[in-house]
Amino acid sequence: MSAEPIVTGTIGFPRIGPRRELKFALEKFWAGESDRSQLAAAAREIRRIGWQTQAEAGMVRIPSNDFSLYDHVLDTTVMVGAVPQRYARRGEDALATYFAMARGDRQTPAMEMTKWFDTNYHYIVPEFEAHMEFRLASRKPLEEYLEARALGFETRPVVLGPVSFAMLGQAAGDRAAIAEALAEVYGHLLRELAAAGARWVQIDEPCLGLDLPSAALPLFARVYRLIANFEPRIKILLATYFSDLAENLEPALDLPVAGLHLDLVRAPRQLDAALERAPAGLKLSLGIVDGRNIWRTDLEQTLALVRKAAERLGPERLELAPSCSLLHVPVDLQYETRLDPDLRSWLAFARQKLDELASLARAAAGNTPEIAAELAENQRLLAARRASARVRDPDVRRRVAAITPAMLQRRGSFAARRGRQIPLPLLPTTTIGSFPQTPEIRRARAAWRAGKLADNDYEALLRAEIERAIRFQEEVGLDVLAHGEFERSDMVEYFGERLQGFAFTENGWVQSYGSRCVKPPLIYGDVARPRPMTVAWARFAQSLTDRPVKGMLTGPVTMLAWSFVRDDLPRDELCFQVALALRDEVRDLESAGIRVIQVDEPALREGLPLRRAARPAYLRWAVDAFRLATAAVADVTQIHTHMCYAEFGEILDAIARMDADVISMEAARSKMQVLDAFRSRGYPNDIGPGVYDIHSPRVPEIAEMEKRIGLALQVFPAERLWVNPDCGLKTRRWDEVRPALQNLVAAARRIRTALSRASRAQG
Ligand code: GLN
Ligand code: ZN
Repeated sequence: MSAEPIVTGTIGFPRIGPRRELKFALEKFWAGESDRSQLAAAAREIRRIGWQTQAEAGMVRIPSNDFSLYDHVLDTTVMVGAVPQRYARRGEDALATYFAMARGDRQTPAMEMTKWFDTNYHYIVPEFEAHMEFRLASRKPLEEYLEARALGFETRPVVLGPVSFAMLGQAAGDRAAIAEALAEVYGHLLRELAAAGARWVQIDEPCLGLDLPSAALPLFARVYRLIANFEPRIKILLATYFSDLAENLEPALDLPVAGLHLDLVRAPRQLDAALERAPAGLKLSLGIVDGRNIWRTDLEQTLALVRKAAERLGPERLELAPSCSLLHVPVDLQYETRLDPDLRSWLAFARQKLDELASLARAAAGNTPEIAAELAENQRLLAARRASARVRDPDVRRRVAAITPAMLQRRGSFAARRGRQIPLPLLPTTTIGSFPQTPEIRRARAAWRAGKLADNDYEALLRAEIERAIRFQEEVGLDVLAHGEFERSDMVEYFGERLQGFAFTENGWVQSYGSRCVKPPLIYGDVARPRPMTVAWARFAQSLTDRPVKGMLTGPVTMLAWSFVRDDLPRDELCFQVALALRDEVRDLESAGIRVIQVDEPALREGLPLRRAARPAYLRWAVDAFRLATAAVADVTQIHTHMCYAEFGEILDAIARMDADVISMEAARSKMQVLDAFRSRGYPNDIGPGVYDIHSPRVPEIAEMEKRIGLALQVFPAERLWVNPDCGLKTRRWDEVRPALQNLVAAARRIRTALSRASRAQG
């Protein structure tokens, strides 16, 4: 005898298509090689495949409107009529306006984009203008609901909730007023969905997992009362994810909604409190399969959670779901033909996670022989992973256990090191590392990877590129040179491919934004460095010139942030493993005569936990890992680091504690606003706020960069200031980079002259 199975539901499915069909359809359309009906047809087909895949896997609650042509936050902006004035041009159709907001067009740059919580997905930041009148301006959720129904799929439409939407946007005015004004628009949407026959709607309010200002919880209550009163016929599943609701849990349970989704992978302990406090009749959607990582679920262990919940609430009040939308994991393991079979058997991509949910639902309903066999097979695979010699390297474990505080400490203080390092002019000029990755380089790499270009020929080509880059930098007169990173496809992949413990997929793509997808490496085992990774290139580059050439490495925190990380080891311990591997590389670079070594940590800020309480611990180990990687060098060796745009304010102390001799950071794009953070708190070591926005093809003028250097000089003394671009130049073209760097050097020289004139006049 088995009971009625618990309902399964995916709260969001990847929307790029099994083989990145969305990317190719979009890029064709943007290139003018297809028309809008072809784009629409491609999008429809991606949606159909998604629904069918989920239905075939036995999912009961299948989402619709989780698809987007670019970004679901931008879709919401359009849906509620919040298109900023500068895009609302006459005579233009909705699709052109949509893509203008997403990507910019001839007349208007794109809207701002930022990271979606602590993921690598980026959303288009809503902008709320004064006097914006919200209205239901697009019926995309309704259209996609009806589209699914016409295909025979009864779906649960998903929308981003009004409070989170308001909180994620930029607003001059009062966000609470915005959220309340939006409530009515949502009411209208729900009314139309109910009229069309939808019985449930999923409303995402991920902001419930954040530290909220005190006014936010009453706001949630008001907004949801408004929505629920407006349209009582449709049931709301309120979805939260990415963190613990903690103090927001009780208020969330009391909202007038029919169901609440909890992320029980990130925050399993909130289940007990939720079971305890859930008001009668409220359904709980248990987010028990990891939507943020790619490891096979421990079914036995998860089943215990499900059983506990079922005993308490009854199976009819539960739903089994991934912890968050499956948008954040690759689509299907089926396309991985070259992965090692052992490793492959430890993994579950989105498609496989559906099977896990179905298994859990069946197992919770009763124990049949088939289910017992499935669970036993799951346990066997997990045990094989635990026991595998490939995940554990005793030497690495011993080395991590033997880390001492002294290993995190440079020998001399910054003041002592500084005078002994390589002599440079005032306001030294440098770049962040990469130079243009031309189509020829990419083609050569592809041919080399495919075995169509011999190692020697590929290397000769890279050497020629490096030599050209070095000559160019000498000619324009940069002070500290870079070899250009031509041998790297990507700053994490290059190192991952040379480290033990990393693996790479063929098709493990995850959407980053719009048509952009990334293929994060998997870190499955203990990380070690079998041999030097960059030393030969660095030595070659340095042999070409008398000026210092920077050794260029990717930092341990960034290596983890942009990978799928093993779940069987604490993150800090894994980070120290990577740091030790880099420490060896740093030492080898130093021994090879490299006097300046840059260890990039662009992802340090983005790894910051969503909840404030967890941040100090993260910053402690993250900074320790950087120090472990860099502190072994002699005082004469100069350590640089680089960070891309971030809100630095909160992490200023942590950045200072990294104790890099020089930090370069993005600043030009934000009109040097990052300097404000440093104005009051200062920064003890050398610093190079970017004076050239590399994200735009525009060549910056000398005067413009002079002005930015001038702004930086109001915050930092000239003796500690460097002059450099915002970030690496690999996405730019040489005909943009050449004049831009000429101007950058000219700007630095003009200021140098002005400063020395001023000091002569004074002295
Ligand atoms: N050194 C890297 C480069 O120049 C840094 C890239 C980054 O910060 N994302 O490309
Ligand atoms: Zn950068």
